[in-house]
Amino acid sequence: MSEPARPQRVLIVGASLAGVRTAESLRTLGFDGEIVLAGDEPHRPYDRPPLSKDYLGGARQPADLRLDATLPDDAVRWRLGAAATALDPARRIVSFADGGEETYDRLVLACGTTPIVPPGLDVGLDGVHLLRTLDDADGLRADLDAGPRHVVVLGAGFIGAELASTCRARGLAVTLVDAAPLPLSRPLGPEVAQHLLDLHRADGVDFRLGVAAEAFTAEGGRVTGLRLADGGHLAADLVVVAIGVRPATAWLADSGLALDDGVVCGSDLASLSHPDVYAVGDVVRFEHPLVGAPVRVEHWSNAVEGASVVAEAILGGQPRHHAVPSFWTDQLGVKIQGVGFTAWADEVEVEDDAGALVATYRREGRTIGAVAFGRPRRLIAVRRELAAALVG
Ligand SMILES: Cc1cc2nc3c(=O)[nH]c(=O)nc-3n(C[C@H](O)[C@H](O)[C@H](O)COP(=O)(O)OP(=O)(O)OC[C@H]3O[C@@H](n4cnc5c(N)ncnc54)[C@H](O)[C@@H]3O)c2cc1C
Repeated sequence: MSEPARPQRVLIVGASLAGVRTAESLRTLGFDGEIVLAGDEPHRPYDRPPLSKDYLGGARQPADLRLDATLPDDAVRWRLGAAATALDPARRIVSFADGGEETYDRLVLACGTTPIVPPGLDVGLDGVHLLRTLDDADGLRADLDAGPRHVVVLGAGFIGAELASTCRARGLAVTLVDAAPLPLSRPLGPEVAQHLLDLHRADGVDFRLGVAAEAFTAEGGRVTGLRLADGGHLAADLVVVAIGVRPATAWLADSGLALDDGVVCGSDLASLSHPDVYAVGDVVRFEHPLVGAPVRVEHWSNAVEGASVVAEAILGGQPRHHAVPSFWTDQLGVKIQGVGFTAWADEVEVEDDAGALVATYRREGRTIGAVAFGRPRRLIAVRRELAAALVG
């Protein structure tokens, strides 16, 4: 099928951060064709990061999380509560679970990620939660409001650590379980991870590290605890499973699209196998010059920055998604911020800046990232250095 000179219809699958920002950018750049924004959740788009932080704490309501306030009502045709089930790229058709179809000139995959559920763990039990969506957060918030005696969080990544912190702020007893020996050691490195562990321990979080979860124990359909691979058992009346996510690409398996832990794209975020299909946000794997390898980035800023790249590319530009990645996480009342590709470091230099930790990450002697606990200004120079390396 030949490509139309200028697309008339853009179909975006995934009505969340990356999808909404792509639609906004298309309009800002003057696109006057049709935009269909389809998503499987029933809600208008909302922001996810507060779901493990102040939303769970009760400080925010759903209306505070709205993401599409700056998108005029007539800017897109909404198709909410619609799960895409198949893509036929030769005919440029996406099929939906309700039996409907949409055609496109350009397709944008903004379908994000979905939580990993370990085999053997029955997440259908009462008292067991995942945390990705607003509905997940509402269910979890209701169970937290009921005052559980003991919370177990499975997975000491960003979301698990934030959840532990949120539970402690509510005065709840919480145990964080992970098969790795330290929390967040992959993105932060062992020294910074140890510092984080010490802070959480001082806050009253109990840890079971270096041990895998085996199965839940339950009574009458409600969770009573977690059995560990070392034979131990943790009593729990509330469990959150937060062991990571995988790209939400199962529905694309038969499409012929190049997939490899995400949708494989060039630096303009166009699919390497089908150039009229783009991917953006958590779901895209693309080559980044700072690491010289394909990466997938599960951070908020990557979705926002990628959205303008996709819009520009759809409208005939030749942009490259080479922004310096950045992230933040709120734990223990501290905003921890990072820039660059910290997980790729072979050397980490840690310093104490008047009681706050600042770490610089290097690979083969070259700075590739930094993390600062409550010291955002300390990241400015590293961000500049990385941005300069991208231009040079
Ligand atoms: C609890 C939580 C806390 C977070 N905190 C932080 C933080 O502090 N800092 C940070 O940098 N990042 C954080 N993140 C990550 C950040 O929210 C994501 O990077 C961002 O949401 C990615 O946006 P996205 O649009 O690519 O994907 P998503 O926000 O995941 O949206 C994808 C959308 O597509 C839908 N979808 C999937 N499959 C289909 C289908 N087949 N058909 C139709 N629709 C489909 C999904 O239901 C979803 O609505 C957090 C994430 C979570 C869950």
